[in-house]
Amino acid sequence: MEIIANYINGELIPPHSAKYIDDINPATAEAFDQIPLSDEEDLKYALASAEKAYPEWSELSAKDRADYLIKISDLIKENLEDLAEAESKDTGKPVQLARTVDIPRASSNMEFFAHAITQFSSESHAGKDSINYTLRKPLGVVACISPWNLPLYLFTWKIAPALASGNCVIAKPSEITPYTAYLFSKICIEAGLPKGVLNILHGTGPDIGNAIVQNKRIKAVSFTGGTATGRKIAEISAPMFRKVSLELGGKNPALVFGDCDLDKTVEGLVRASFTNQGEICLCASRIYIEDSIYEDFKAKFIQKVKALKVGSPSDNSNNMGALVSAQHLEKVKSYIALAKEEGGSLLCGDETIELNEHTKNGYFLRPHVFENLSNHCRTNQEEIFGPVVSLNVFKNEQEALSLANQNEYGLASSIWTSDLSRAHRIGNQIETGIVWVNCWMNRDLRTPFGGMKNSGLGREGGLEALRFFTEPKNICIQY
Ligand code: NDP
Repeated sequence: MEIIANYINGELIPPHSAKYIDDINPATAEAFDQIPLSDEEDLKYALASAEKAYPEWSELSAKDRADYLIKISDLIKENLEDLAEAESKDTGKPVQLARTVDIPRASSNMEFFAHAITQFSSESHAGKDSINYTLRKPLGVVACISPWNLPLYLFTWKIAPALASGNCVIAKPSEITPYTAYLFSKICIEAGLPKGVLNILHGTGPDIGNAIVQNKRIKAVSFTGGTATGRKIAEISAPMFRKVSLELGGKNPALVFGDCDLDKTVEGLVRASFTNQGEICLCASRIYIEDSIYEDFKAKFIQKVKALKVGSPSDNSNNMGALVSAQHLEKVKSYIALAKEEGGSLLCGDETIELNEHTKNGYFLRPHVFENLSNHCRTNQEEIFGPVVSLNVFKNEQEALSLANQNEYGLASSIWTSDLSRAHRIGNQIETGIVWVNCWMNRDLRTPFGGMKNSGLGREGGLEALRFFTEPKNICIQY
């Protein structure tokens, strides 16, 4: 069994505690590697290395820093197959998804921010008797903490802008899916990234994650994960007046109008609901359908959902793999039971999954679709983060908007209509940070990414990320 190492001061090293926990392959329920349990001593060493590396790294030209990121991006591309297989083994997602989405996106993240930093500029304001210009300086040593659902994709989405803008980084992947972060540290070594610039500490959230956040020498925390964890990080950071970027949970509405292209909408929403087993913060989970097409939509949607194949992630004919862990599977199942208690009618989901000898103990679950749930019930209000969606009916645009906005989350939404004016009207009023019209997860890395309400604070992506990882300083010169 492979033993994962921390990446500190440019080297792969064991944790100070010499303690490890098993990393489980969710498709087989078997351990396939061991994860270090890092502690304060590892953090101390990582901080010292990062602080030592900071002056030189922050003073490199943007182009020189970008060159390192490009090298890393190229190495991710060269190792695409190994990384995709590792990601699939660690998360349970279909290897085909990791091969076409997760790993290419990790490479694009590095490349995108390499280019972005060479184009980044700060403002100048010319007045009658003076001119002001703004410097944007890196912050110092920052933390990047990421979740298990899109491991390398989200890990690099934070690390790339942090490094590009001249910070040194202490990063922590989820202990549930640490493997590609470990492979990434090997890639950084191969790319010759100067030692200490990036340090990767493995271990659990409440231990090493919390220790990183509690440490006052960390100048900013970029976090993606659950709303409860995000709240804790905000509480710890507030008295330090420290910058935080919080990308949190979602309960994303999809609004389907009678004038939509029905077949395209059904296809789009099957994808939006069940890609990555529904374990994407952006997945649609509450689908609101205009009454005039409710029955037609339902029939077509259920037919397509029933046709989705669930099983071994290495079999390219499967659309869905395993959920990430036994614990998460139990959580999702408990919501399925709750939906029934709350009066929901199950339209599909309890069909048998045919598994082979190798995957018979894996954490598989068929996509579940409910109807007849009230908008206020817990199933329609709380984030499930699995393959469970509800179909709900509305009579008119105003009601659709009101149902969609009656939720504490505000991450992403989608609107399905052929009426462009309606799309603009709803886009303007719906309470989510991201709105897709007749599409889902169509991502342009230059756009602001993030949620409102309980879905977080701040925005990632493009200039927003580079602004987050820098401190503006205004200089005023009198003529
Ligand atoms: P968690 O909040 O449990 O964990 C996220 C990360 O934080 C993990 O690395 C975790 O470590 C770490 N962590 C946990 N507790 C602490 C702590 N006290 N201090 C510091 N770090 C801590 O979320 P999940 O991993 O379960 O991810 C799922 C959640 O992420 C969902 O709510 C989902 O919506 C959200 N998400 C949001 C996205 C967005 O862009 N808005 C994108 C993707 C997911 P460990 O796992 O090792 O315990």
